[in-house]
Amino acid sequence: MSDTNYVGRFAPSPTGPLHFGSLIAALAGYLEARSQGGTWLVRIEDIDPPREVPGSADSILRALEGFGLTWDGTVLYQSKRLDAYRAAVAGLLAAGHAYRCRCTRRVVNQQPGGIYGGQCRSAGVTAGEESSVRVLTNQLPLAFEDALQGQIVQRLELDVGDYVVQRRDRLFAYQLAVTLDDDYQGVTEIVRGCDLLDSTPRQIHLRGLLGLSQPAYAHHLVALDQSGQKLSKGTGAAALAPKGSASVLFQALEVLCQIPPPDLRLEPVSDQLIWAIKNWDISRLQKISSVKLDEDRNVVQTLHDRLAIPQIQPQ
Ligand code: GLU
Repeated sequence: MSDTNYVGRFAPSPTGPLHFGSLIAALAGYLEARSQGGTWLVRIEDIDPPREVPGSADSILRALEGFGLTWDGTVLYQSKRLDAYRAAVAGLLAAGHAYRCRCTRRVVNQQPGGIYGGQCRSAGVTAGEESSVRVLTNQLPLAFEDALQGQIVQRLELDVGDYVVQRRDRLFAYQLAVTLDDDYQGVTEIVRGCDLLDSTPRQIHLRGLLGLSQPAYAHHLVALDQSGQKLSKGTGAAALAPKGSASVLFQALEVLCQIPPPDLRLEPVSDQLIWAIKNWDISRLQKISSVKLDEDRNVVQTLHDRLAIPQIQPQ
């Protein structure tokens, strides 16, 4: 299928059906991969059973198919990767890059800015105690160049603090699983919404500690409703019909600034995708952090201030 070394991916959490916000992420990643003749993978991030909605992994996959967004190979389920996560945590602990922490989330939230101050760094918390595992950070500036948002700099210790790779409830953290799996699947460019921009320096840091190569990043705009809330499962964004819909796909192309010709609205999704792959221009998304949509999904405002985008705080 692939005629380049490009590998992209879409990595939904199965916490609800596909909605318009996640369609945008899937479509942007798909078009970026396919326009380069690359591979596009789908990974179901089912590492947090308490947050999972039964049946949503399948319904997301059926909806992707309905919109013609077909992926390469088989879907990777993170729930099948626990041994790899366990081994990585053990390796980080053994190398002194991580330590056990007995602080609860409530305690951490009470610290200035909710940023963990490293109190357990030298507390000698043992494996038998109820504890999370945190990665040791430092204050050096960690910078990367995002293809759409430009240079991003964080000082991890000050901006996010030592971060969790394994939770107190023993579940593995998003930051760990996503980093290991993007590497495991050979992903060369991570295309996802700006709401995950804050997480990227942690993933780059973790790759450094684990000796993994660094991919490229492109964080695209996120869709907001009229009140400025991100369209998400959490804010009750409507589920998209699993059979897909030409007019909804057309709207997604418009939101992604691709200026599809009006006649295309009535064409089947397969024809819309052919046009979109041929005409895909990711540079149209440069420096846009979000768009506000009205109830009919028309863009009513385009925003450039990425700091105004509420960041997901994946566990
Ligand atoms: N699973 C995450 C989500 O659904 C996305 C992870 C990613 O793209 O890095 O929000």
